Amino acid sequence: MRHIEKRICYLVLAILPFTLSGCVSQSQTERMADLFEQYPVSEMPNDWEKQGVSATYYGTSTIVFDDGVSSVLIDGFFSRPSIIPALFGQMQQIKRDQSNEIFSSHSKLEGVVVLHSHHDHAMDAPCIANYHDAYLIGSDSTLKILCGAKEIKRPKSPIFSQSEVSEPIVLGNFTVTLIQSVHGELPGIAAWYVGIEKHITEKLVMPSRLSKFKEGDNYAVLIEHPKGNSLVVGSAAVISGNIERATNREPIEIDWLFFGVGKLSKQASEQYLTALLATKPKNMTPIHWDSFSAQPQSGELPLPTWPFGNAADAIGLVLSYRAQYQSANSETGFTLLNYQQAVCVGCK
Ligand SMILES: [Zn+2]
Repeated sequence: MRHIEKRICYLVLAILPFTLSGCVSQSQTERMADLFEQYPVSEMPNDWEKQGVSATYYGTSTIVFDDGVSSVLIDGFFSRPSIIPALFGQMQQIKRDQSNEIFSSHSKLEGVVVLHSHHDHAMDAPCIANYHDAYLIGSDSTLKILCGAKEIKRPKSPIFSQSEVSEPIVLGNFTVTLIQSVHGELPGIAAWYVGIEKHITEKLVMPSRLSKFKEGDNYAVLIEHPKGNSLVVGSAAVISGNIERATNREPIEIDWLFFGVGKLSKQASEQYLTALLATKPKNMTPIHWDSFSAQPQSGELPLPTWPFGNAADAIGLVLSYRAQYQSANSETGFTLLNYQQAVCVGCK
């Protein structure tokens, strides 16, 4: 009996943070509004397909890269279920109509690349791959997530041959390379609840609950294209040296760095940002700063609530490290993206 009580107590402590939605501080809202004004998005050139690759942001680490001929989706999280379905096993994946609507503004989807298997990265990815006949690329855990009860026809596991960096995967004119990474730090109980360093070992039929989505293997991804290269890091942590090893493969230059700042803390940020800035990006954009349990309203992503971090604080930390880095190096542009806003990677 005592054992059961202890487990219930742990569960309550683990889910408490998820129940505190709607408590976004006024100062966070105002500071984010100021940051959006300070770091606005440049308008896409009319002939962007001739110059570069568009990268459209959909919140968390969900980004569509499009060269006008084909597109690649990183992660795939549009359903953003709220707390009750997430805890009680009623999380529903994206429907075909919604997916068709989103991807009607993009070129043919060639691949869906999932960075790790938590629900806010992987949940909708199998359905999107299925609806658009694209490859689903990810860890063994990700490939166990079904679309409803349906298996995915074109799954692809990255191949790592005695290296932390995968073999390159060709998707249209894009070449995608996965780099082994680790998850940003979470408090002990939350880490237990969401299965940090745990794997999904059986087929995951939907609808389901948040705790079934264990982390699985964790990757950053390098997206190379003749017109511009990008690096996407979904979690606020990297294995020191892996990114440098991958990006030192000649002749790679990072035009655009997209990097997760969710739960970015003062303790972890110096090492993390130093590793990222070593890739000498021409431009950088923080991602995964939003709350994942609410839908965007009027084109704006919801802000996180305590204790999921504070978007304005995390972005402030990033800006302070960028300032230090820039004093010794060349200029790195900084852009803040809101829901469905796009930048042109490689455009002059
Ligand atoms: Zn995660």
